[in-house]
Amino acid sequence: MNGTFLPLVEDFFSIQGEGFHTGKAAYLIRLGGCDVGCSWCDTRFSWDPEHFPMVKTDAIIDRAIRSGTDSVLVTGGEPLMWNLGYLCSGLKSKYIKTFIETSGAYQLSGKWDWICLSPKTNMPPVSEICNKADELKVIIENRNDFEWAEEYRRKVSKKCRLFLQPEWSRFESVIPEIIVYVKQNPDWRISLQVHKYMHIP
Ligand code: SF4
Repeated sequence: MNGTFLPLVEDFFSIQGEGFHTGKAAYLIRLGGCDVGCSWCDTRFSWDPEHFPMVKTDAIIDRAIRSGTDSVLVTGGEPLMWNLGYLCSGLKSKYIKTFIETSGAYQLSGKWDWICLSPKTNMPPVSEICNKADELKVIIENRNDFEWAEEYRRKVSKKCRLFLQPEWSRFESVIPEIIVYVKQNPDWRISLQVHKYMHIP
C-alpha cells in the first residue's frame, strides 16, 4: 500500500470538537478501518474498511484545498492502519497543516504538525509514537482510566499537552470525578466533545 488510495468514510470542512484545538476550523478526513474495538466507540460504523470505497488520495487532497482550509484533521476509525505519507505530502505541498487523531496502535506514517494520541487499553500504542505525541487525550469511562492516563503521561514527552475526556455515554457519572481529579492534578485539562453540543459531526 503506497497511500495513493484510501478507504474514505467521509470528508468535510468543520470545526475541531475535542482536545487542544477545540473550536478551530479544519477539514476533517475520516478513514475506514479499526480493530481496536473500544466498547463505547461512537464511530463503530467506520470499523470495517470494506464498507468504504478506496478513493484516490489526490481527490481527497483536492477537496481539502478547495475548501480553503489551512489545516486538515485525519481521524477514523484508526487512520494509521493506512500509509498516510502520500496524503501528508500532498497537503503539505500546499502549506496545509496536518493533524491526526490516533490510538497509536499502528506504526506512524506521514508527516504531522500535530499528533493527538488517545491510547486504548484494548490495543496499546506502539512505543515510538509516545514521545512524538503533541497531545495525550485519555477517555475516562471509569476510575481505572485515571491510572491508565498516568501510565501514558509517563511515556509522553514533557511538552505533551494532557487531556482527560469523559466517555460521552457516561458523562453524568464520570464528570464529577474528572473535575476533582483535575483540581488535584492541574497538569491535566478537561476535554469535552463540544461538536456534539454544536450538533455537528
Ligand atoms: Fe472506536 Fe477509536 Fe476505539 Fe477504534 S480506537 S474502536 S475508532 S474509539
